[in-house]
Amino acid sequence: MRIKTKLNLGVGLLFVLIIVLSLVSAFYIYSIKKDTQNILKANYETLEYSRNMLSSLDEIEVNETKAIVLFETNLKKQIANISEVGEDKVTYDLQRKFQILEQDRNNATLKSQIRNDIFEIMKLNMNAIKVKGDIAKKTAETANLWIAIVGSLCFLIAFNLLVNLPNNIANPIKELTASIKEIANRNYSERVHFHNHNEYGDLAKSFNTMAEKLEEYSNSNLHKLTFEKKRLETLINNMHDPIIGLDSEGIILFVNDEALKIIGLRQEEVIGQSATTLALKNDLMRSLIINELESSKAHPMKIFADGKESYFEKETVNITITPTGEDKSIDIGNVIILRNITIFKELDFAKTNFIATVSHELKTPISSIKLSLQLLEKSETGTINDEQKQLIESIKEDSERLLKITGELLDISQLETGNIHLNIEKSNPYDIVNYAVDAVKVQAEQKQIELIIDLEKELPEVKADSEKTGWVLINFLTNAITYSSSQSKIIVKLKKENNQVVFQVIDYGKGIDKRYQSKVFDKYFQIPGSNKSGTGLGLAISKEFIEAQNGTISVESELGLGSTFSIGLNWV
Ligand code: ADP
Repeated sequence: MRIKTKLNLGVGLLFVLIIVLSLVSAFYIYSIKKDTQNILKANYETLEYSRNMLSSLDEIEVNETKAIVLFETNLKKQIANISEVGEDKVTYDLQRKFQILEQDRNNATLKSQIRNDIFEIMKLNMNAIKVKGDIAKKTAETANLWIAIVGSLCFLIAFNLLVNLPNNIANPIKELTASIKEIANRNYSERVHFHNHNEYGDLAKSFNTMAEKLEEYSNSNLHKLTFEKKRLETLINNMHDPIIGLDSEGIILFVNDEALKIIGLRQEEVIGQSATTLALKNDLMRSLIINELESSKAHPMKIFADGKESYFEKETVNITITPTGEDKSIDIGNVIILRNITIFKELDFAKTNFIATVSHELKTPISSIKLSLQLLEKSETGTINDEQKQLIESIKEDSERLLKITGELLDISQLETGNIHLNIEKSNPYDIVNYAVDAVKVQAEQKQIELIIDLEKELPEVKADSEKTGWVLINFLTNAITYSSSQSKIIVKLKKENNQVVFQVIDYGKGIDKRYQSKVFDKYFQIPGSNKSGTGLGLAISKEFIEAQNGTISVESELGLGSTFSIGLNWV
């Protein structure tokens, strides 16, 4: 039965029973009231009149007139108050006898008859009182019975409603609330179990259908997700580069076979572990998570794995996602990718060795060419005409350039293999500047470029390899002369700045486009369209030399206006 019908029936029945109870009570109260009123009016008053008539009959001899009047008055009232069967006959008899007695006032027999009649009337009414009393009692008893029956029914229904209704309503709601909570906690196998044919039954059916669909949906998604997870895991595992995935707390989420090979641990020893804890006992892990967020292009790492030395370039990819419905992205972890660059490193080594060998082998013949040319120029070796002299000059210039190139190539290959030795000592900055300026003086004069030397006084000595620093300054100056137009000027500055002695070469030449300024210190880089005779190595070697001395090197330039190349060296 539906709850609405149940409630309607229960409360409705209770309502009807209360009305019945009220009606029954009212009816019986009215009946009892009517019975008692009847006794009072019809019988009790008759007794009163009879008593008055008896006493006035006794007083006839004493006060005749008064007694007669009193008797008559009461007789009249009695006549008007006849109510019982047979009472009328006796009353009218009494009236007739009283009329005779009025004529014959000393008739004792008549008096006695009248007295008997009055007693008869009294007896009749007394009997009637008794009968009516019995009826009233019975009415009261019936009323009691009916009120008790209807009252008990009301009580039973009210009690039944009181005991069952709250539970009937609250229990399914409680069960439903618990089930909804389970569903909210993703326990989609939860069902409700009330199967009554009421509103709750319908609700349970709908709820179970919803839970079933959610379960189905979740299972299908789960299956899909598991499948996709497996696919990704396989993909990551099949990659030749070692990969390690960390969550935002630094807990290792996944690690592929290549990564396991190089860190020398088993999967179960790594997954779910904190990278910091692992780093305490694993050297490689330590170097991997140190500066984890550092720029991805750090120095290549040399790792001994799989019986050979390999080179890896670490790249840390920060993973951020934007949750559905939100604007802000959140950090969910990092993926460390180690790119195996061993093959490139090997090629690079081969290239460096080749360059080193070739440049080394070229240097000696070029030097002897230079020497031979010098001998050729001397008059002892014979006279040469102007044309021959010009040819010798041109060969000298070319061999000079070749010597510079082979020198730079040798320097860079030695820097790459770490075979260069710096001789860092207390050095006088003025000496370094003078050495460099002297070396390029002729070159500047040839282009009619004025070299302005602007040196701050009393600068302290610096920690430097004066030969290499001089080389760098010469490189700056040679470039400045090359990229300045003739008859311009170049300033060489020496000053103190932020605990450093700063060497500056300022020119007013073609300048460097902003896009290339950060690249001019890269190996083999030449600005497109610039003097192709160089190697693109001069500034790269300069950077290596200066940084190896813990110094700084920089460029500021404005296209078309000129460039300022600076080096800063720490003073002693
Ligand atoms: P290179 O030996 O080819 O000159 P560098 O490493 O010395 O190589 O210079 C790299 C590039 O920087 C050059 O190709 C040149 O275009 C640019 N460059 C260097 N110095 C200057 C300068 N003072 N003015 C303009 N461009 C310059």
